[in-house]
Amino acid sequence: MTLPRFIKSEENFQELRAILKLQTCPHCRRIGTLNSHGHLRGYPELGGGKGDEFRGRRLFCSNRRRRKPGCGRTVGLWFSNILPNFIIRLQTLWLFLTGILAGLAKADAFRRASSTQHPMSAYRIFRRMEDSQSRIRACLSRLVPPPEAPKSPAPLAATLAHLEAAFPHARCPPDAYQLHFQESFFRRKRVSFQHPVSRVPIERHQEFSRN
Ligand SMILES: [Zn+2]
Repeated sequence: MTLPRFIKSEENFQELRAILKLQTCPHCRRIGTLNSHGHLRGYPELGGGKGDEFRGRRLFCSNRRRRKPGCGRTVGLWFSNILPNFIIRLQTLWLFLTGILAGLAKADAFRRASSTQHPMSAYRIFRRMEDSQSRIRACLSRLVPPPEAPKSPAPLAATLAHLEAAFPHARCPPDAYQLHFQESFFRRKRVSFQHPVSRVPIERHQEFSRN
């Protein structure tokens, strides 16, 4: 069985745990080697210390078995409301984007969506949205055609309308997107090894992901 990358909730994980021995390790392709290995942790969106928030589950491909050992690597299963490698939750991102579409300036839309994040993050996150939009729309087109008459021809309006058409009953369409397509709403940005540590975007933090 193919292991999901995003799961809806802890309850979903417990269901998956019951059939973990049937799952394939995404690294070494062995079956029956994965074990539960704690939580993925990260900065909580509402502040607090590092590692305070559970953001998913971690599995370990056991290399301690005598017969057919696994590869010893770990695998992350993200909760679908989490945006991997970002502090903000997808519900906050959705509020931010719909605020911009409603006519708010980016910083104002961000303040309305998140009372705890620095407004400067608004521009960085919006750039990531711009970088991701064509891939998101291409994925959505596999599910439903784009709406024929979006309210505005702007790419953001077209993308949000397409998300709503694909997941009409979802409270947070990007969450539904991650769960359905099993891929991150934003792709991880590769950081050059030459970058000084201080230049690494503040959203990045030490969480394992399979990107
Ligand atoms: Zn493995």
